[in-house]
Parts: sequence; C-alpha cells; structure tokens
Amino acid sequence: MEMKAHRNGGGETSVTVGTAVVGGGAFTVMAGPCAVESEVQIMEAAEFIAEGGAAILRGGAFKIPRSPYDFQGLGEEGLRYLRKAGDATSLPVVSEVTEPDDVPLVAEYVDMVQVGAHNMQNVVLLRAVGQVDRPVLLKRGPSATIEEWLLAAEYVLNEGNMDVVLGEQGIRTFDTRTTSTLDISSVPVIKQLSHLPVIIDPSHASGASAIVAPLALAGRAAGADGLMVEVHPSPDDALTEGPHQLDRDEYFSLMHALGIVRLRADIDLVDREIVRLLARRVKRAVEIAHIKVEEGIALRSPDREVDLLADVRDEADRLGLDPKVVQRLFEEILDYSRQEQRRAVGAGSEDDPA
Ligand code: PEP
Ligand code: MN
Repeated sequence: MEMKAHRNGGGETSVTVGTAVVGGGAFTVMAGPCAVESEVQIMEAAEFIAEGGAAILRGGAFKIPRSPYDFQGLGEEGLRYLRKAGDATSLPVVSEVTEPDDVPLVAEYVDMVQVGAHNMQNVVLLRAVGQVDRPVLLKRGPSATIEEWLLAAEYVLNEGNMDVVLGEQGIRTFDTRTTSTLDISSVPVIKQLSHLPVIIDPSHASGASAIVAPLALAGRAAGADGLMVEVHPSPDDALTEGPHQLDRDEYFSLMHALGIVRLRADIDLVDREIVRLLARRVKRAVEIAHIKVEEGIALRSPDREVDLLADVRDEADRLGLDPKVVQRLFEEILDYSRQEQRRAVGAGSEDDPA
C-alpha cells in the first residue's frame, strides 16, 4: 500500500498559508496567544508578533482544555477578532477546530485550520478538514506513534487536501517537570519517511516559558520547518496556560536567537512573491500582445516604456532604493516581457505587428 504521506521517492511538499509558506526550506514561525481572550488582547499580541517577525498569527477560539470548568474560548467571536488582528498586521492566521460540524465556519475565518493533539485520531474531524480548501496543521497526539501520526495525516490527504503540516508537541512522559517530552527525534524521522513539512510546538511540550527557547532552537537544529509558539501580552493574566506563554520580551529574544534562519526564511518568502508577481506581469503582457495583434498595433510602445521607467524610478526613490539600480532591473524585466510577447504571438521582430 503506497501511503500518500510517505516520500515515495518525491521531493518535499511546501504548504502555502496565505502569504506565508511552511516547508521547502523556509523556517516559519507561528506565534500568538493560547486563546483569543478579547479584541484588545489579540490586537496587542498581533502587533508585536508582526514586529518580531513571525509569519503566521495563532489564537485559539474553540478550546478544549483538560477541565470542562476552564475557559473554553470565545468561539466565533474569537475567530472574528483573530481575523481582524491578522488583517491589521498582514499576517495569515491559524486556529484550532474541534468539531467536524464547525470546520466550514472556522475555515471561513482562518488561513490554516489546526487539528489539536487530543483530536489526532478523530477520524470524522480528519475527513472534514480533508474536504476544505485550507491547509491543515495536524498536531501529534501525546500517545501516538509516528506511524499513527502519519496515518492520521493519510485520512486528510485521502480526501484530496494535500496541504498538511505536521506538528510535534511532545509525547507523554513519567516526568512531572514538563508537560510532555518534546520528541526531537520525530523531526528527522518524519523527514526520512514523509514529504510533509514538520514544525515543533515547544510551548505545549514544555509547560514552562523558560524551557521554550532551548526547545525551539533544538527543533530548528533537528531540521524542523518552523515552530508554533504561544505568546501573550501578559502571561500572568492569561485565561489559559499562562506558565508557558512568552511575554513580549521573551518572544523578541527567541526571535533574535533564531536570527539568521528566520531572516533567510523571510527572504525566501519575498523571493517567491517576486517570482509570482513576475509571472503575473508576463501573463498580462502576453494578453496585451494578443490584443495588439488583433488590432494591428505594433507590439512595442516606446512612450509607455519611458513613462513606466520614470514611475518605477520615483517609487524606488520614495522607498529609499537606488533609482538607477531599480531602473536596470526593470529594463531586464521589460526585455523579458517583450521576449515572451513575441514568443506568444509568433512575431519575428519587435515592431512586427503580425
Ligand atoms: C493549541 O495549539 O492551542 C492546543 C491546545 O494544541 P493541542 O490541542 O494540540 O494541544
Ligand atoms: Mn495552548
């Protein structure tokens, strides 16, 4: 039986989450409070989280704490605040869904849906998230083997949703000093077995904020594609899991410790975005070329090129870039666009309308 989650000789999958990417060489940080508690709280968190450089904002709206007497989350109201905070800071958002019936509702608000550790083998939920057009973060159950975790992913993939990110957050331990033992070895094992990206969640594994950064760095060293970390503007006042949530300073110091890896990951994202924009530009140029041929107009419009380069120089200047350098880059882009236009319409020379 060939499992879809297995490598099967193929490369690595990278999963797009709004404007962010998980896998394919990026190191993606998802950060945010355990629970969305109020509009003010998530907005305040989102602002410093964006400033610190995380790529994705997290926040729980449907919580399933161990005790039914603990805070259960704000539900749809929480999702609304999370979306608003994500939009205000240009961060895509991820939130947990706990019930199969809630999947369409949660998917409406978020860029990525999370299946929590305690639902890892909830097959009905796995099938439901497999049917929505949203990437899925699948946390490893505290007592699940790696094989069982991959089989859970298989339930999602089998429904046609191939955008699954695995999340390691620790396995049950006899020790009482930590919530669970972050199974660092699962990261390289997953890398051997599967093409799916894998991130670690040092917050839920640790149970204590002081242990979060060392675990995060260990996860990165082991080859994880990123991490999910819980961050709260005021952990002492948190309605859930205060002891392991990082405050602003702790979060900034973790991001600093992740340093160059995180910055490179951001550059990778920017580069992909540039390529996507270039593809869009070429596509438009080709569409225009077809119209010009239909109407018998010359392909090249020298006046427009002059205007366009002037606009580009002004914009570069406004953003503190060297206008001459940016103009050179755009001359290359224009040259390439013209080449694609000629190819698309089968024209021999630049000025040949045919
Ligand atoms: C969470 O990420 O908020 C969470 C509670 O995760 P899990 O359900 O996987 O423990
Ligand atoms: Mn939590």
